Amino acid sequence: MDNEKTGRLICSLRKEMGLTQKQLADMMNISDKAVSKWERGLGCPDVSLLTELADIFGVGTDVLLSGEQKINEKSGGNMRNTVFYRCPVCGETMASSKKFELSCCGRKMSPLAISEADDAHKITIEPVEDELYITLDHEMTKAHYLTFAAYVSADTMTYIKLYPEQDAAFRIRARGSGFLYIGCSEHGLFRYRLR
Ligand SMILES: [Zn+2]
Ligand SMILES: [Zn+2]
Repeated sequence: MDNEKTGRLICSLRKEMGLTQKQLADMMNISDKAVSKWERGLGCPDVSLLTELADIFGVGTDVLLSGEQKINEKSGGNMRNTVFYRCPVCGETMASSKKFELSCCGRKMSPLAISEADDAHKITIEPVEDELYITLDHEMTKAHYLTFAAYVSADTMTYIKLYPEQDAAFRIRARGSGFLYIGCSEHGLFRYRLR
């Protein structure tokens, strides 16, 4: 592999997602110095970190290793790198394939950081006819609940608003591969890869 090429690609994918080196490093529990090193081509992530990086960016590890993103993957990248904004006052959520300056309730909305799902936010997927029935074992009280689910594929986006006192469950029509995002009022935003 070519460290410089891989480094440049890591840098551009990170920026596409609107992450700083520090934010990316925090998601991976590593130091931002490591990220900076990779991006300058001074080293490369080891295999386990490479897999994690590929998951965060939604690309294959082979893409990171070659340092080259094919055109079709790049166009899918617009939707892959969906940015979600949440109003700190009313809780309204917005999704966008680009970064915008948005405000709501007189406050600036800031992009939500995306993390990979932890044990408390695991999903169970059950195919029902041509839809997927997704359930979580998660609290749905006013103090702590799932706020929305969004399914994003190359050309579609389905947004489902969720409310407290409902079941932590919803149905989506999923075609091909895409990403599912689930917002939690307490724990931020989680991303799942659907194939
Ligand atoms: Zn608001
Ligand atoms: Zn939660």
